[in-house]
Amino acid sequence: DKRWKTEKRSVRIELGMNSITLSGYISVLMLFVYFTMHGKISIGSFAAIFASIEVMFLYLRTMIDQQMSGVFNRGGVIKNFTSFLNYPERSSSNEVKDPMGGITLSGVSFSYPGTDTPSINGIDLKVDAGETIAIVGENGAGKSTLIRLMTGIYKPTEGTVHICKCDTRKTSMRVLFQGTSGVFQNYQRYKLSLKDNIAISDLGKAENQEDIEKCLREVGLESKQPDFKDGLNTMLSTEFEGIDLSGGQWQRIAIARGIYRQNEVIVLDEPTSAIDPMEEMRLYKSFSEISHGKLAVIATHRLGSARIADRIVVLDKGSIAEMGTHEELMANRGKYAEMFKKQASWYESVMQ
Ligand code: ATP
Repeated sequence: DKRWKTEKRSVRIELGMNSITLSGYISVLMLFVYFTMHGKISIGSFAAIFASIEVMFLYLRTMIDQQMSGVFNRGGVIKNFTSFLNYPERSSSNEVKDPMGGITLSGVSFSYPGTDTPSINGIDLKVDAGETIAIVGENGAGKSTLIRLMTGIYKPTEGTVHICKCDTRKTSMRVLFQGTSGVFQNYQRYKLSLKDNIAISDLGKAENQEDIEKCLREVGLESKQPDFKDGLNTMLSTEFEGIDLSGGQWQRIAIARGIYRQNEVIVLDEPTSAIDPMEEMRLYKSFSEISHGKLAVIATHRLGSARIADRIVVLDKGSIAEMGTHEELMANRGKYAEMFKKQASWYESVMQ
């Protein structure tokens, strides 16, 4: 409905612009015909002036068109920003998280604004403190949406989500995000030093170089490797006389940033698309050691990495299709087994 209204408005503007141009042409044409008829200008001058006017109209139109589209684009951005500012703050009850409380979803459904089909449909799930679960499923199955519900970024449309015993609809984001570390697909590439790119995830923590080095090693990077010419102080931006990294290296930095933050809940939402499947598996194995004793959730569509989890949740069209360990799910011969067989060639050498 909104798009239709915008379309109608732009057609009206286009028609308005065309009518103004046409009336301008007709008036100028009539004026010059009058001057020519009364011998005030020659036919040659008439032709020359008329041709120049055509070019001038063309330039004016292009200028106005571009300006108008700029105004509408910027208007859209400002409108989005002001509606974002107008979002009500979540009421901040003085709830305190219980680190041993785990995450519980009861009858959770979620629909994105402006859509009729729920992206998450009637999910019941309990993840205990210290447990690692993997959420797997095809593209569009709802993995990212579920992760956002489990971290309190989204509030459920129906049902409840409790993180460490706090209801995500009633608890302030400040309390909800405390002690939670999330690494998402759209992580930031800060134009800062290597060290600051890691330490930025926990500004309250006294900067500890040893700790930063350790996080880098855990994701397969070394501050002393030749790429980082100034070690931890290497600037990660060519604009500031530093270096740029490959997509895979940036993803490792994003994971190291997530690990560095003080957390009891850690979430990875496929931040490894630019890392090949075998490397991703190695990285996740090291991640499972780091996250030992913490509640960890990883979303992935590469099933080899899901094997590190204590439990695998298979999502299909927003609902839980299956749940269990790798062995149980393979024995089920359901959705998971089918997906695993499709991906087997990636992992054959390691699985044998
Ligand atoms: P992928 O593996 O491609 O990241 P996914 O399993 O993480 O997919 P989601 O990104 O959670 O799936 O998407 C679930 C459904 O919700 C899809 O049908 C998608 O089109 C829809 N969806 C996701 N984000 C939005 C949005 N911002 N607005 C409307 N619909 C959305």
